[in-house]
Amino acid sequence: MQFSDLKLQPKLLQAIERQGYQHPSPIQAQGIPAVLSGHDVMAAAQTGTGKTAGFTLPMLEILSKGQRARGNNVRALVLAPTRELAAQVGASVATYGKELALSYCVAFGGVKINPQMMQLRRGADILVATPGRLMDLYQQNAIKFEQLEMLVLDEADRMLDMGFIHDIRRIIKLLPPKRQNLLYSATFSDEIRDLAKTIVHQPLEISV
Ligand code: AMP
Repeated sequence: MQFSDLKLQPKLLQAIERQGYQHPSPIQAQGIPAVLSGHDVMAAAQTGTGKTAGFTLPMLEILSKGQRARGNNVRALVLAPTRELAAQVGASVATYGKELALSYCVAFGGVKINPQMMQLRRGADILVATPGRLMDLYQQNAIKFEQLEMLVLDEADRMLDMGFIHDIRRIIKLLPPKRQNLLYSATFSDEIRDLAKTIVHQPLEISV
């Protein structure tokens, strides 16, 4: 399979080419069409499989088509367990989305909240955040979810291990019910499946 077989726009294919990727990895070959189809997706994939591009590319494709985020609104929320992972996903969004007119913001704790609040004032088509900081921002009225279209949980198993389950459940309740949900996890334990039940609806399941 070639990247050009996937229904991604030329600007994204060019970004992939600039990265020097030759072929989609298995998680990308299966996951990109699944996400583009609009279904919820549950994917079992370890770090290093190319999972980040696997959800970032179709997310950018989908978001490039809709109306841009208005003041304080977020259209796609990516939750990541650590600041390192959030920064890494943010870097992928920047790299692949370079030629698309989409705004994004990366928010994690341990740094000042004010610059993140300022950035969110204009709205963010994509917000990549750790759960704790996301709740702080929400409580400061810095985020609105009226335009939310997509939720991505990255490394869901690590989020549970790190004790973010309550934050995640609280965040889910704030989101509009009609949205696309993507859940990525290295493993699918009973605990993850339990959480998934409350988040994803009739998901396409992918495992590589
Ligand atoms: P990830 O599993 O998302 O952490 O990605 C692992 C690494 O693989 C990252 O450094 C990516 O830049 C790289 N990568 C992602 N997709 C591909 C691909 N199709 N071909 C080669 N490298 C890739």
